[in-house]
Amino acid sequence: MRFPLTLAHIFERAGKLFPKSEIVSRLPDKSLHRHTYSEFCRRARALGGALQHMGLKRGDRVATLMWNHYAHLEAYFAVPCAGGVLHTLNLRLAPEDIAWIANHAGDRFLIVDDVLLPLYSKFREAAKFEKVIVVPLTGSSVAAEFDDYEAVIARSRPFKPLALKEEDPAGMCYTSGTTGRPKGVVYSHRALVLHSLASALPDVMGMSNHDTVTPVVPMFHVNAWGMPFTAAMVGAKLAFPGPHLDAVSLLDLYQSEQVTLTAGVPTIWAGILQALDQEPARWKLSAGMRMVVGGAAAPESMIRAFDRHNLMVIHGWGMTETTPVAAVNYVKRELAGPAGDTQYAQRAKQGVPLPLVEVRAMTGEGEAAWDGATMGELEVRGPWIAAKYHDLETEADKWSADGWFRTGDVVTIDAHGYIKITDRIKDLVKSGGEWISSVDLENALVGHPKVAEAAVIAVPDAKWGERPLAVVVLKPGQSATAAELREYLAPKFAKFCLPDGVLFVAEIPRTSTGKMLKAKLREQFKDWKTS
Ligand code: AMP
Repeated sequence: MRFPLTLAHIFERAGKLFPKSEIVSRLPDKSLHRHTYSEFCRRARALGGALQHMGLKRGDRVATLMWNHYAHLEAYFAVPCAGGVLHTLNLRLAPEDIAWIANHAGDRFLIVDDVLLPLYSKFREAAKFEKVIVVPLTGSSVAAEFDDYEAVIARSRPFKPLALKEEDPAGMCYTSGTTGRPKGVVYSHRALVLHSLASALPDVMGMSNHDTVTPVVPMFHVNAWGMPFTAAMVGAKLAFPGPHLDAVSLLDLYQSEQVTLTAGVPTIWAGILQALDQEPARWKLSAGMRMVVGGAAAPESMIRAFDRHNLMVIHGWGMTETTPVAAVNYVKRELAGPAGDTQYAQRAKQGVPLPLVEVRAMTGEGEAAWDGATMGELEVRGPWIAAKYHDLETEADKWSADGWFRTGDVVTIDAHGYIKITDRIKDLVKSGGEWISSVDLENALVGHPKVAEAAVIAVPDAKWGERPLAVVVLKPGQSATAAELREYLAPKFAKFCLPDGVLFVAEIPRTSTGKMLKAKLREQFKDWKTS
C-alpha cells in the first residue's frame, strides 16, 4: 500500500499510544516543568490551529528562537502537521546573521522564548515577522505588541488535519558554516520519518519506549539530531535541559530523571568528565547511560574515560545536509572482544553508515579501497541526504548526477566499513607531497593529561610546502613545554607528521555550534616560523 510517511502519523500515534509518557523541562529559574505526551499533543494541536488561524499556508516557514524544552517540542510537531515548515534559528549566531537567515528563508512567523527577547530586540529591525509569539517561560507577562504563547494556546481550536504528502517540506536548518554565508537545507516529512526509524535501531541510538532521553545538542542545530522526533515515535520520556547546559546542571538532571540516553558535542562531554573526575561520588547516574557524541571527533581518551565511569560513548557522524545522522559507531560482531587498544581505536572512528545510507571515499583516481589507509573525500547518498540547498544555485556542483553528495570531509574506510575522518578538505596538511591528518594529531594531544584542547593547522613552509603547527589549551593550573608534548606524540606518529611547533593559547576560537575555527587560527599564525 502506498502510505505517506509524514510526521502527522508519528504525532497522532504518540498521543494515542503514549499519553502518559513524561516531558520534563528545566526552566530558566532552574525549576523543573513536567507534563505528559497527552498534554503535549493537546497543546501542539492548539498551536497548529492558532497558526492556521493567523494565516499559515502550506509550505510557510515558522521560525523558532528557543532553547530545548516542552514548548519547542510542541512547535516541532504543530508547525509541520499544520502544513508549515519549522525553521529553527540558531541563537548563538550574531544578530545580523540571524536576521540574514530569517530573511533568506522568508520566515513569516516567529516563536521566541521570553528570555531570548533581548537577543530578538537586536535584530527586530532587520528581520520583520508578521507575528511574534512569546513563550512566557519565566511566568512574567508578555508585552502587548506580541502574542502570548499560553494565551494563544488557551483560546485556539485544534488545527485542521491536512492531506500531507511525504515530499512536503517539514523543517529547515542552516549550516553553521566556518566560512561564507550559511546555507539552508529543507527536510521533507519522508526524510524525517525515515531518519527517525533508522535512528531508533539498536545499532544506531537504540532508542526505546523505556528510555529517558536528554538532547543536549540544541533543538536549533539540525533538529537536535532528530531526537525529539525519534523519542515521540517510540514514546520515550524526554528530559530537556532548557538554557542550563553547564556540567553540574546536566548531571543533576541526569540523576533526578535517571536519564538513559543523551547526546551532544564533545565540548559538553569534556566539561561533564571534568566534573565527574572531580567529584566521582556526587551523582548516582543510570548505569551504562549512553551518550551520543558527534559534530566533532570524540577522542579515544574521552571514550576510555567515560567507560571508567560506566557511561557509554556512542560516536556518530553527520552534517546539516544529512538530516544529520548518517554513520554511527557500534562494535560489530566480527570485532567483539575484550576492551583493549584495538577496540578503543575502532570505537573512536566515526562509525558505519546507517541502513539506506551509501558511502564512498573518492580520490583523484576514483573510489578509494576500503583498506583503512587510503584517504578520499567522503561522498554520501540516501533518502535523508539533501539534494540541494534552499534558494542557492552556486553550490550545485556538490551533488553528482546520480545523487552523491560531496561532504568536504576526508576519510578512510576500513575493511569492516568503519569511516574515520582524517580532516576537512580545507584543513588537511600537505607536507612534502604527503597528507598529514590534523585530526589524528589533535586526538592524540588531548590524550595527554595536561591538555584540555588542541587544534593542528597547516602553516606555509618554504621547503615542505606546509608543516603542521599545534595550538594547545592546557587544563587549568597546568604548565607544559612544546618539547614535552612532541615527545608524547613521538611514539604514535611517523617523524614527518610531528608538529614543528606547539603554541599555548588561552582559548581556541569556535563556531556557534562548537567547531574549531581553524581558518581563524591559520590566519593568525600564517607567518609562524620554527626558530
Ligand atoms: P554541521 O553541518 O554543522 O553539523 O557540520 C558537519 C561537519 O561536522 C561534518 O562535515 C564534519 O566535518 C564534522 N563532524 C560531524 N561529526 C563529526 C565526528 N563525529 N567527528 C569528526 N567530525 C565530525
